[in-house]
Amino acid sequence: MPHEAISVFDIFKIGIGPSSSHTLGPWRAAQRFINNIEGAGDLSKVTSVRVLLYGSLAKTGIGHGTDIAVQLGLCNDDPVTFDVDSVGTKIADIAAMKRIVLAGKHEINFDARTDIEFLVTESLPYHPNALTFLASFADGREIAETFYSIGGGFIKKENEKILIREGIELPFPIDSADDLLHWCRRTGLSVSDVVLENENTWRPDFETKTGVLAIWEVMKQCTFRGSHTAGTLPGGLNVKRRASELNKKLIGDRRYENYDSWLMAIRAGGNNFKYTLDWVSCFALAVNEENASFGRVGTAPTNGAAGVIPAVLQYYVIFCDGYSEDKIIQFMLTAAEVGSIFKKGATISAAMGGCQAEVGVSSAMAAAGLTEVLGGTQRQVLMAAEIAMEHHLGLTCDPIAGLVQVPCIERNTMGAIKAITASQLALQSAPDFAKVSLDGVVKTMWDTAKDMNTKYKETSEGGLAVHIPISLSEC
Ligand code: SF4
Repeated sequence: MPHEAISVFDIFKIGIGPSSSHTLGPWRAAQRFINNIEGAGDLSKVTSVRVLLYGSLAKTGIGHGTDIAVQLGLCNDDPVTFDVDSVGTKIADIAAMKRIVLAGKHEINFDARTDIEFLVTESLPYHPNALTFLASFADGREIAETFYSIGGGFIKKENEKILIREGIELPFPIDSADDLLHWCRRTGLSVSDVVLENENTWRPDFETKTGVLAIWEVMKQCTFRGSHTAGTLPGGLNVKRRASELNKKLIGDRRYENYDSWLMAIRAGGNNFKYTLDWVSCFALAVNEENASFGRVGTAPTNGAAGVIPAVLQYYVIFCDGYSEDKIIQFMLTAAEVGSIFKKGATISAAMGGCQAEVGVSSAMAAAGLTEVLGGTQRQVLMAAEIAMEHHLGLTCDPIAGLVQVPCIERNTMGAIKAITASQLALQSAPDFAKVSLDGVVKTMWDTAKDMNTKYKETSEGGLAVHIPISLSEC
């Protein structure tokens, strides 16, 4: 059977909030669609483009900014580099002019209100997150391409097998936790070293390390920005940003020039339990408030769950006294492999598995990463991931008004704390006596995902989304 090769840079990506499956994936799909047309030499002949959104993308697409993402993708703007402060202006310009510049080169009429359709009663069978792009050409031709946004920013074009990287032969093929443990035992390498050996298949060692540190830099800056930005989140729910208030309560009004001076000030406050707990919450809130504001975040493994790993990493850096670039890299490589195991054995898409697939997976990833850098054995690393997921099983996805705000933002604080507790439990335990394996919990999560009622899978048709009264203004 062909082996699915997933790199650390598939699991961790730099992007824009609020959602990897509803924003980043559709954005990438729109880019691919327009680049395909341009590659065929047909861009200048396009006369119209329409976008059809199905299933979960239709039901919660407005709150998740799917309409915004596909417009920016059709312009071939890049989510990694696009100026996040220009999102609103650019979308307003397209709406006012009723014109869009495809791939930044070819201008056509485009009215998002009619050219993007939210087909809330329709779903495509392969995956709940589906979107079809239709283009008409001056010579009378028409084309349609369907994509699926399958979680974590991954996309799959209809009838295309893109998940299997042809020709990639990893020295340590891993599909399950047992595979990973097998390679660790056989080589005597740590989890992160096994992962690094695999990454070396794609690129030189230093490129992997530099790339991982670049993602860490995005996480740090995102946390810093979020911890110093007050106000109300967009979308109409009027959710107040809390990270900056908590930041002020913890270290006062002084505004620090940069992340490093802020970090030193936090560290100087000591490490009593309540202080540490408040900071872990602050970091997670900060990242997810940035995510909800269309800010730049590191997808880890999704945008809705983007706060867990930065919060746990910063807990490690500040309160465990162990900061070094090597340790950050070890944490991220270990976390990525655990995310990859969940993606292969279950799902990282809330539209397939509810929030256990997002915050649950990010918590398991963070628990494994933390255990690795705190000196846990390979089996303790896997045990930590198992414990963290075991206590997220069955967690549903029911964002109020389809916005990645409630319960999402607070839920990241819970994911981070559970990760730290899981890591500590694993470090204090003998894995020989564990009753549940990581592979066992991956399978259980997938079974639970399949049994979960559809309304709890990113549709906003169940749970908090229907029990909390809101009044959103029409816009
Ligand atoms: S409830 Fe969880 S999975 Fe659903 S949008 Fe919020 S963070 Fe993502």
